Amino acid sequence: MKDIPNMFGSQVFNDTVMKARLPKDTYKALKKTIEQGTHLELDVANVVANAMKDWATENGATHFTHWFQPMTGITAEKHDSFISPSNDGKIIMEFSGKELVRGEPDASSFPSGGLRATFEARGYTVWDTTSYAFIKDGTLCIPTAFCSYSGEALDKKTPLLRSMQAIDKQAMRILKLFGNTTAKRVITTVGPEQEYFLVDKEVYLKRPDLVNCGRTLFGARPPKGQELDDHYFGNLKPRVSAFMKELDEELWKLGILAKTKHNEVAPAQHELAPIFTTTNIATDHNQLTMELMKSIANSHGLVCLLHEKPFAGVNGSGKHNNWSISTDTGVNLLEPGDTPFENAQFLLFLVAVIKAVDDYQDLLRVSVASAGNDHRLGANEAPPAIVSMFLGDELTEILEAIETDSSYKNKRKHQMEIGATVLPHFPKDTTDRNRTSPFAFTGNKFEFRMLGSNFSIAGPNIVLNSIVAEVLSQFADKLEKSNNFKSDLDALIQSTMKQHKRIIFNGNNYSDEWVTEAEERGLLNLKNTVETLPTFILPKNVEMFCKHNVFTEAEMHSRYEILLENYVKTIHIEALTLIDLVKKEILPSSISYQNELITLITGKKSCGIEEQPELNIAKKLAKSTTCLYKELEELEAAVLNAKLINDSLELAKYYHDFVFLAITQLRIVIDELETMISKKHWGLPTYAELLYSVN
Ligand code: ADP
Ligand code: MG
Repeated sequence: MKDIPNMFGSQVFNDTVMKARLPKDTYKALKKTIEQGTHLELDVANVVANAMKDWATENGATHFTHWFQPMTGITAEKHDSFISPSNDGKIIMEFSGKELVRGEPDASSFPSGGLRATFEARGYTVWDTTSYAFIKDGTLCIPTAFCSYSGEALDKKTPLLRSMQAIDKQAMRILKLFGNTTAKRVITTVGPEQEYFLVDKEVYLKRPDLVNCGRTLFGARPPKGQELDDHYFGNLKPRVSAFMKELDEELWKLGILAKTKHNEVAPAQHELAPIFTTTNIATDHNQLTMELMKSIANSHGLVCLLHEKPFAGVNGSGKHNNWSISTDTGVNLLEPGDTPFENAQFLLFLVAVIKAVDDYQDLLRVSVASAGNDHRLGANEAPPAIVSMFLGDELTEILEAIETDSSYKNKRKHQMEIGATVLPHFPKDTTDRNRTSPFAFTGNKFEFRMLGSNFSIAGPNIVLNSIVAEVLSQFADKLEKSNNFKSDLDALIQSTMKQHKRIIFNGNNYSDEWVTEAEERGLLNLKNTVETLPTFILPKNVEMFCKHNVFTEAEMHSRYEILLENYVKTIHIEALTLIDLVKKEILPSSISYQNELITLITGKKSCGIEEQPELNIAKKLAKSTTCLYKELEELEAAVLNAKLINDSLELAKYYHDFVFLAITQLRIVIDELETMISKKHWGLPTYAELLYSVN
């Protein structure tokens, strides 16, 4: 048996290590910086850096890096060794406070959406003291934020930290109104459930579309898909089990609370869920989890696919962002309480989230928009593109009773008068909760289910924290002026419910009826990324983010440009990959099979054999191949014509309306051909081979 408690966090410069290794004063000063965000003096930083270096080298590290999250979606690192020449021609291992606190990576090739052009060419990284340093692969990694010289955020972490400050500030105002004097800070917590596919590496390498694009661009449906639901929670195959075991151990060493793992619905699909933690750390940990999934899979001869939709006709992979708000004293503010007083506070936070989701449906939708996720959201699978909330019947009835000033009859048929300050005993059982809802209340937290498996959770949580901060600030503005707190509170909860109940939907989100009903309710249905992105920079959204100092207007425009650019690049790469595959593999397969058939047909004819089923096959093949060639030309023309468009939004629209469409049409012909061509001539692994490649 491995000593897991000892293994846990062994690669992390955490509080225990700091306490043991830092002089008392230094430890205190650092703690103050971590908890209150106070400035860290250079002499203190020098002592911390030296202790970190000693600890890291004792644990086998030779290098250090500022680890950051640029807007590429993955993490970046540039490694420097600790070595420094000494006078006697030898070296010593050195690491200064300056190197710890601030770095200057050559950042010119990270996306900035035009920010660097207007400001400074270079960027710098600053230590995020709220996230512990750790050792990965012999390198001491220091979590950092990445900014331009003029202080504009060039990464995902900076705005996330700002959004956490915003919700802290506004939620504290509310807690004060309820007479809370013990809480010093309010934090948001997140537990992201991560889905992924595992395929055999050798099979994977034979599919250039998977290698280049992370998803298959063609592939006929396998005879057996997920119809039988026999994979969900099924036994783990030995190779998968070995992978998961190593992954758990490596995550634990990094102090990541990997908790549950199981098979998912689709063949070859799995899930990992950690125990929740502070949003900032959960974000760093989720990035590390995705990175480790890929590298550990590789060492097991496997490939971990994090694309949102690697296979058509098979469930895609999402990420469930479980989110809640709590005080630094550990009180979950979305947990219904035992006393009417606690319940009033719970209800106020609950209706704040309801109003926030309704007012900013567009921003939540933007936070999960990407070319990859377009294959999931609204495309006949979990969840739809319409943002709505599930509260469960019981809680919905309670809120309806509050809204209409009527009495509430609970399951046990007890009649009770209810105002905002009286919440009848509310069962926290979440077993019958709705799995089709994009945003579900699950007893003491919300589960935002629209994220794609590939996403950094930073974006969605920046939005969640900010929009809830905005509503809390509106509530605080009202209630702080109140002369009768209790009755104004009741009135506020009631009027908020009246205005925003349209966002609550407890039914089946996949049904066509919901699409119609949502439209009647005036809810947004932003069907794809290109339709969605422009809402990001609507004046109301710019105003909200700027008010809470989460983004500047320039930062928002730069992010908008990057998102458009990413969309275009993704579809462009898919188009070029498919064109290449058709020319080099698929057309030649079809031609060589036809050739074989025609040789046979001619041979049979010369021998006077009348039965010629091959003739039919050859004719059908010839027809499909003509189609294939026509669709190929269409796609090539579409890509070529894109060069004429300069405006970034117009270009993204064009890529959606023409290039993506041409890819889809070409795919239909390829999938048909795949079912006709013999195995000998079809060199590419099929869906069945990919999905059942791991034993
Ligand atoms: P599911 O049934 O949806 O698969 P799980 O119970 O497996 O849900 O996962 C729930 C996730 O929610 C876990 O990652 C858990 O740590 C997280 N979670 C629980 N409580 C909170 C909270 N207060 N804040 C944020 N996340 C939470
Ligand atoms: Mg879940």
